[in-house]
Amino acid sequence: MGGFFGVVGKDDCVADVFYGADYHSHLGTSRGGMVVRGAQGFKRNIHDISDTPFRTKFEPDLYKHVGRMGLGVISDYEDQPMLVGSHHGRYAIATVGKLDNLEALAREVLSGKAAHYSEMKGNEFNQTEVVASLIDRQDTLVDGLQYVHQKVVGSCSILLLTDDGIYASRDRLGRTPVVIGRKEGALAATLESCAFPNLGYEIDRELGPGEIVRLTAEGVEQLSPSGQQMQICAFLWIYYGFPASSYEGVNVEEARYRCGAALARADDTQVDIVAGVPDSGVGHAIGYAREAGVPYARPFAKYTPTWPRSFMPQEQRVRDLVARMKLIPIRALMAGRRLLFCEDSIVRGTQLQDVIRRIFDSGAREVHMRPACPPLVYTCRFLNFSRSRSELDLAGRKAIAELGGDAEKDLGRYADSAAPEYGSMIEKIRERLGLTSLRYQKLDDMIEAIGLPREKLCTYCWNGESLYENACEGCAAESREAEEVGAGS
Ligand code: SF4
Repeated sequence: MGGFFGVVGKDDCVADVFYGADYHSHLGTSRGGMVVRGAQGFKRNIHDISDTPFRTKFEPDLYKHVGRMGLGVISDYEDQPMLVGSHHGRYAIATVGKLDNLEALAREVLSGKAAHYSEMKGNEFNQTEVVASLIDRQDTLVDGLQYVHQKVVGSCSILLLTDDGIYASRDRLGRTPVVIGRKEGALAATLESCAFPNLGYEIDRELGPGEIVRLTAEGVEQLSPSGQQMQICAFLWIYYGFPASSYEGVNVEEARYRCGAALARADDTQVDIVAGVPDSGVGHAIGYAREAGVPYARPFAKYTPTWPRSFMPQEQRVRDLVARMKLIPIRALMAGRRLLFCEDSIVRGTQLQDVIRRIFDSGAREVHMRPACPPLVYTCRFLNFSRSRSELDLAGRKAIAELGGDAEKDLGRYADSAAPEYGSMIEKIRERLGLTSLRYQKLDDMIEAIGLPREKLCTYCWNGESLYENACEGCAAESREAEEVGAGS
């Protein structure tokens, strides 16, 4: 994933850019970047944040930046923001999303001869650089941003810092949010609205899908209207969005309470305690406990003073170690009890397997698990959310393989909670995790808990459905063709 935060103000904006970008640290683990436009032009810094948080890495740079416009970005993958000199003048660009047709787009630009890419990582193109090259193919920045909407298969939201303000462009189908905030003398654009309250911003409005605006110290100017079709990522509310954020007017924490309540309504299991697997299972568990009228407790205490978040280290072995060391079981709450845990989702299930073993080792009589979303059987095609995860690693896919199922042919039936194949898959996962019982949220209940119309939400992870293609039909077909030619050459 990744996230960004941009500010235009009448006074120096560096502190806002710094803290605003830092509030996106839960969305990316690899690179952090900041760029500020001051009297001397653009000044940029990029750091590796895989072993040290954004704030620690960028603090020494703060004093080197002065300016009234700037943006910061947290990235899971490529170096950004990029500084670009083009016929549009100089600008800095940050993107959030995933170009599924990256190779095809890069090749298309290179076929125009006088073009090159300088930010290669091994053999891979830097996707933010490729987006910039698409923008530069058009006469104006707005035409360029609209051209990106037409061409990208996947998703792409963009912040552009220019001499004339910040251009904010939300993905054509709004897979990720872009929220505009306002305070006396400044305007900001962010992915996570939780970045606003402590910096004094109020939400001005959220951009619609495909909408493009320009922020200046004087106000917000709409440059391209919002489209009608939306496919915002439902996983934002279930797992990776921050509890204090809202998207499309729906707060994350409240949506999690409703998810937990829906799980409780579909359940008649008798337990002594309801708990959340920290952190993102907690909101779901509070909702479950309230609805079921069962005490909520915290049988795991999270030791946060020294342990970083679990997905930060690159190596899986280290990630597992960190996940284990920071959760300390409280035996007094577990021994002899029937415990029900809510979890945001089960991805691979390896860390969860260890957690469950430790709960039983602490004397629990029964351990029941209630994930807040249906089983994940498809990996994300639209954000770089799960780029490194192989589909075959998903707990659901592993269970299907163990059952001897044909994932290519029968995946729809395994994803359908009314089909017998679904029941067998859940039982296989339960067995492997060593749980007393396992019951997943139903897709309809999850959608109802989020509270947006079904056709506005992306639910591809769970049912493999995507209502609309991001790129225009013709562009998507062209890209597929170019990918095939590239693969064959
Ligand atoms: S595939 Fe899943 S993670 Fe990706 S945008 Fe859709 S709901 Fe979100």
